[in-house]
Amino acid sequence: MLPPFRNEPYADFLLPANRQAMEQALAKVRGEFGREYAIVVNGAAIHTPDKHDSVNPSRPVELVGRHQKATAEIAVRAIETAHAAFPGWAATPVAERVAMVVACASILRERKSEFNAWLVLEAGKNWNEAEADTAEAIDFCEYYARQMERMASPAPLVQMPGERGELRYLGLGVGIIIPPWNFPLAILVGMTVAALVAGNTVVIKPSSETPTIGAKFVEVLAAAGFPPATYAFVPGSGAIIGDLLVEHPLTRFVSFTGSREVGLRINALAAQTQPGQKWIKRVVAEMGGKDAIIVDADADLEAAAQGVVAAAFGYQGQKCSACSRVIVDASIHDRFVEMIKTKTEALTIGPADDPEFFMGPVISAGARKAIRSYIEIGRTEGQLVTGGDEAPGEGYYLQPTIVQGIEGHHRLFQEEIFGPVLAVAKSRDFEHALALANDSDYGLTGAIYSNTPAHLERARNEFFVGNLYLNRKCTGAMVGAHPFGGFNMSGTDSKAGGPDYLLQFLQAKTIAEKLS
Ligand code: NAD
Repeated sequence: MLPPFRNEPYADFLLPANRQAMEQALAKVRGEFGREYAIVVNGAAIHTPDKHDSVNPSRPVELVGRHQKATAEIAVRAIETAHAAFPGWAATPVAERVAMVVACASILRERKSEFNAWLVLEAGKNWNEAEADTAEAIDFCEYYARQMERMASPAPLVQMPGERGELRYLGLGVGIIIPPWNFPLAILVGMTVAALVAGNTVVIKPSSETPTIGAKFVEVLAAAGFPPATYAFVPGSGAIIGDLLVEHPLTRFVSFTGSREVGLRINALAAQTQPGQKWIKRVVAEMGGKDAIIVDADADLEAAAQGVVAAAFGYQGQKCSACSRVIVDASIHDRFVEMIKTKTEALTIGPADDPEFFMGPVISAGARKAIRSYIEIGRTEGQLVTGGDEAPGEGYYLQPTIVQGIEGHHRLFQEEIFGPVLAVAKSRDFEHALALANDSDYGLTGAIYSNTPAHLERARNEFFVGNLYLNRKCTGAMVGAHPFGGFNMSGTDSKAGGPDYLLQFLQAKTIAEKLS
């Protein structure tokens, strides 16, 4: 049995040794810029004529990695190989599968600065955000390894007289792993190792914004000893291989994290039974958010302002858990808006590899354009408090933007923007604040700052989100402590990093033997 789980500690970059390690890792990774990465099926490297380039969003002229675009034929081969490997992998003793996942954690720990550097340079994370992403990837490995040990020794059943009863958890089959770009290591790793440790084989389709980080993790799977046929790495366009991977009759489940639009499409496609398909596909779909923080009349305004600004603009607002709506009691509204304005205007914006800057670029030119169009909508729906424009520099920089005067029916209040844009709504009283917070199709994270115990209690019972925080910000969920997943259009509430997560990748078999 493994020792108890503990979260991976974060490196403090104020310490010269940690700073130096990051500088060296950034230099090493820059030295690898422009390399070409292969599709990997059954351990074999495959190249295609059609390529896809991944760039550094802080300096888009820099080519981070060149990737293959898988064809339909390669995607089918990947599924068939994983399907053929499934029985052998499912029969591999749990202890061996667990040991491989723990080995992944060890390798990630040894190569932590290097993975951080890839996250800085391909995803535009600042050093601390990158460190949190890599640490979370390590946590997922260590946590799911322990959860699988637990699932392998399930609680005893009620024993019928004259019978011996048993419950075993079995893997499902081939899973398609479709992660987003915003936690390109942690989410990709978490979804992959959860499926593998439970005895499934996987086909990983990385996000086209961050495929190099995916390719680097596939090196880790190989080094950790996973048999080559148990995993495939298949980058490619959603249009050419996305639907195909989901629809294939040998696909047993899809583990998706990303936008509502794509998640719902995958859910619909997976529900259509294909000729030769022998099961109902499972879909785990973790999707978007429109996360609200309520600031009550008697809240600690300094703590609330700090929490709101950190949750709204950390990683440029590109977290599913980011605060995109702040609902402020009318009695303190103007003072609070002034406080968040001052704090927001003090944020620094620049290249993610320079630790002096709090905010880096948004992920792409397309993302910046889409976010800017929401800012224009915000100007008409409400009043701009600060920001509203691009920020100078070579990268895809945007000013952190606050729009006040936003009401429940406004698009800025309802639609996920996924960038550094915060909508401020004024509430008449706590009742109104709670109603506004729940006026959303989404239900991922939420927070309330209040010193009224009765209001905190009502939030516990009535604030309809998968992850609720009282008197703290709504980002920064930790594996094991804050199992993560949302309600309604935020997804299937799979609770990543929680004790129930692995059940989604397992099926239970009950065995009753008549005793003679
Ligand atoms: P996205 O939906 O655009 O893409 C997600 C993944 O789906 C990518 O790998 C993409 O290549 C793939 N994809 C796109 N079209 C496809 C298709 N037709 N078939 C199969 N795969 C397809 O999302 P994104 O921009 O990468 O990520 C941002 C979104 O993810 C936001 O909405 C954010 O809230 C959400 N998110 C949610 C969570 C959560 O835990 N709920 C965590 C992180 C991000």
